[in-house]
Amino acid sequence: MIEGKNFINGQWRTGDNATPVMSPAQPSERVGSILLSTQDDVNAAVDAAEAASIAWKKFGMVARGNHLFQAAEALEPIVDELAALAAREMGKPVAEARGEALRAVAILRYYAGEGLRSVGDVIPSSNAQSLQYTTRTPLGVVAVVTPWNFPLAIPMWKVAPALVYGNTVVLKPAEWSSLTAIRMMERIGALFPQGVLNLITGLGSITGEALIRHPKIRGISFTGSTTVGAHIAEVATANGVKYQAEMGGKNAVVVTADANLELAVDSTVSGAMRSAGQKCTATSRVIVLSEIHDLFLDRLRERLTKIKQGNPLDTDTYLGPVVSASQYQKVSDYIALGDQEGHLVVGGVHQTREATDGYYIAPTVFDQVQPSARIAQEEIFGPVVSVITANSLEEAISVTNGIRYGLSASIFTQSLHTALQFVEEVEVGLVRVNEETAGVELQAPFGGVKASSSHSREQGRSALEFYTDIKTVSIRP
Ligand code: NAP
Ligand code: MG
Repeated sequence: MIEGKNFINGQWRTGDNATPVMSPAQPSERVGSILLSTQDDVNAAVDAAEAASIAWKKFGMVARGNHLFQAAEALEPIVDELAALAAREMGKPVAEARGEALRAVAILRYYAGEGLRSVGDVIPSSNAQSLQYTTRTPLGVVAVVTPWNFPLAIPMWKVAPALVYGNTVVLKPAEWSSLTAIRMMERIGALFPQGVLNLITGLGSITGEALIRHPKIRGISFTGSTTVGAHIAEVATANGVKYQAEMGGKNAVVVTADANLELAVDSTVSGAMRSAGQKCTATSRVIVLSEIHDLFLDRLRERLTKIKQGNPLDTDTYLGPVVSASQYQKVSDYIALGDQEGHLVVGGVHQTREATDGYYIAPTVFDQVQPSARIAQEEIFGPVVSVITANSLEEAISVTNGIRYGLSASIFTQSLHTALQFVEEVEVGLVRVNEETAGVELQAPFGGVKASSSHSREQGRSALEFYTDIKTVSIRP
């Protein structure tokens, strides 16, 4: 069992201010403990990262890439263990968590390969004698602040590019998913020179806050809620620190009359119910064209009644618990609100178990929801779907866009014309045709618009934009 510790300057440090981690599937079961780190711990981690920075920059991209390759090799043999730990710590079904662990390994390999790719351009100079080109410089010490819903992949998709492009890192994982971060660090931390990669656990409001305000931090990469992201943006802007914030979503699926219904239903179920709806890209609104509404709803109800909900450690579990008592309460409150704002089709509070037996929420669908209803506007982050009826494609697109968020949206249609109109008019960072709203490819840019993002992108080559500055060089012989 992992007991509270931080990884600072190549060493594990314990402390006496640990707090227990309890399982969301069995709230009386203790899974381990984490430290609630203080300003002193943050200072020690940032100082170590700063001291390591100069030598790490000089290592060069190829050598840094090799370190990431070794990290991938070190994580791969323990993907099953990591998946089980994530399942116990934050409730993600183990089969899903295993896919995420493999993704973390693949991300490390991808960015290991980045160590071999070019980073600049040769640009003509008005002085024919001069050589003008761009190169990239690392930011320095980067603070990485991550959410709990992808405990394996999100830390890696930030840490890996930060490191290969020459930054040193202090990672502060979410309180509800720190054990998986500690276990990954046990395997990979010591593969890097002392101080290059540091991990501190603790509360966002104390440890996270101290980290993002630390004067030696030169970059902040954050994923989490829009409220905290907006706060980080303010702090970073005031301090002149480069930042990126990937935040909440309220993602819609549009089902047109000519849709492949089977595919639309399957993708809605998977998009809405995988990870118990706790994905930034989860499907939480379904906008159905009126001609196909009744048929779609019948099929959706039928599918949802067959979903296997249960212990996240069982390999055939589809829907596990939500992450915590407070999320259980928050989602339950939205379901109670849904009884006023819509018509319950499946699930609801009466089918949901008591919190003492695990934070299980029944898969829930509300029909006849108005686009302006709170359950159709606010991020619920649970296995809850609002169905909205539209009378035309134009109305469906306008409802899709009529929210503050802009992360992901899907349309199900057989018509190329309809698909292209949707792709063009929808206000999101990720648009999908005949595919579910959730789904991220590590080699493609990922991020949102509006309140979902600071308009930067992560993953693929986009990471180069965030984790480096451009240096323009002109040389006259
Ligand atoms: P959160 O509450 O915003 O927390 C995210 C991280 O920020 C956690 O590590 C948290 O620590 C920390 N934090 C909280 N307050 C802070 C502060 N004042 N200063 C510095 N750090 C602070 O989000 P969450 O509940 O973990 O995650 C769910 C949210 O993430 C959802 O809104 C979801 O849509 C979003 N998300 C977005 C993406 C994307 O790529 N767009 C991907 C996944 C999730 P604690 O855990 O200790 O509070
Ligand atoms: Mg939180």
